[in-house]
Amino acid sequence: MCERGGGTLHVFPSRQRPDATPSPTLSHEGGERGAPGVAPVAAFGRGNAGRRGRGGGRGAARAAKKNDTRAAGDCPALRNRRPSIQGVTVSLAAFRVLIYPSPMTRILPAVRGTLTPGRPLADLTWLRVGGPADWLFQPADEADLAAFLARLDPAVPVFPMGVGSNLIVRDGGIRGVVVRLGRGFNGIAVEGNRVTAGAAALDAHVARKAAEAGVDLTYLRTIPGAVGGAVRMNAGCYGSYTADHLVTARVVLRDGTVRSLGPREMGFAYRSSLLPEGAVIVEATFEGPKGDPAALEAKMAEQLARRDATQPVKDRTAGSTFRNPGGFSSTGRADDVHDLKAWKLIDDAGLRGFRRGGAVMSEKHPNFLTNIGGATAAELEELGEEVRKRVFESSGLTLEWEIMRVGEKAPVAGAQA
Ligand SMILES: Cc1cc2nc3c(=O)[nH]c(=O)nc-3n(C[C@H](O)[C@H](O)[C@H](O)COP(=O)(O)OP(=O)(O)OC[C@H]3O[C@@H](n4cnc5c(N)ncnc54)[C@H](O)[C@@H]3O)c2cc1C
Repeated sequence: MCERGGGTLHVFPSRQRPDATPSPTLSHEGGERGAPGVAPVAAFGRGNAGRRGRGGGRGAARAAKKNDTRAAGDCPALRNRRPSIQGVTVSLAAFRVLIYPSPMTRILPAVRGTLTPGRPLADLTWLRVGGPADWLFQPADEADLAAFLARLDPAVPVFPMGVGSNLIVRDGGIRGVVVRLGRGFNGIAVEGNRVTAGAAALDAHVARKAAEAGVDLTYLRTIPGAVGGAVRMNAGCYGSYTADHLVTARVVLRDGTVRSLGPREMGFAYRSSLLPEGAVIVEATFEGPKGDPAALEAKMAEQLARRDATQPVKDRTAGSTFRNPGGFSSTGRADDVHDLKAWKLIDDAGLRGFRRGGAVMSEKHPNFLTNIGGATAAELEELGEEVRKRVFESSGLTLEWEIMRVGEKAPVAGAQA
């Protein structure tokens, strides 16, 4: 252990690995990427990937909290002599196990927030599926996030997530650092007809606060995500899009620099933006027309009722699974001809209620992929792919995923390494 400036280096002992595989060899010679015989794809380790079967998320989460939650430190003296673990292949009776360099031994910069290794992500997503993040980082504030990213090895992937309402995290989990903003990023302030909100503020809260102050951001009321996800996805409904309201987004780039990006720089398009890889939105300012608070409240109540009547909002879903085919969005603009919706193509292909295990295309709204219980990420994704194939066969049109699928598939038991 090396201590300096409050930073503490923890090389986590193998007893913290929840599996029963032999202890890897620790070496201070060469980089962690240089372990002989280890494929580059494995260089950041496989975490707890694939160890969790169905329903194992909570137990794994408890184990992660109990044993592994701690701040990792940055030890300058060792920066050029990072520990590495030799790759070892062990043959067991029924399958082969590859021991990769563990993410738990990687040196990460010291933080004031929380860094949790091997954190299962299923309980952080609406669909309740997915494997662990190598590391989950919950920064204390913007300065903490910026300092961490500036000092983090640029080769380590960074994935920002919101409240997981548009995600399928695959069963093998996410390699690298997942950044999830919480307290410290959820303030909401209204000034005139502008509303500034932290990226972790829920869209619904922003809409309500804005309405109370007589600002119409009602389009956010029924979108179940947080502000960062709304900006990144250009979320919208009932004729309004984030692109129509965003004044500026404050962003911490992957190298730790902070920028303010306007709508033009965000490169908004239908359900997408051109946010640079690994960049984390920390705050956004929106502008909305002035309105009477009571009328805005009534508008939101009407939209909620409309949703309730047409969408499975109480089920485990991630919203619309596929985009409406190109040029057929729901903006109410000239390109919106309203006669070609993804749900209609799915319905016409006879796939309303179509299922695979616990994964079902909703009876209520066939463009909503639902987890009715016990579905894996693989089942959800495979069902979606089967729907795409059959819709193409029946209509000649290719559906594009709107739900983001991230991370790695779980290794197949018995597969050759
Ligand atoms: C019932 C239901 C109804 C829905 N209805 C709608 C709808 O009407 N309109 C609509 O547009 N969407 C809808 N959605 C989809 C979803 O709510 C939106 O896409 C939402 O904006 C996602 O926000 P999130 O915080 O959950 O992001 P996540 O799902 O966690 O992430 C989505 C994407 O945003 C990125 N991201 C999240 N936070 C940040 C950040 N701070 N910085 C950088 N990138 C970030 C992630 O990397 C990822 O690429 C619905 C979903 C559900 C479950």
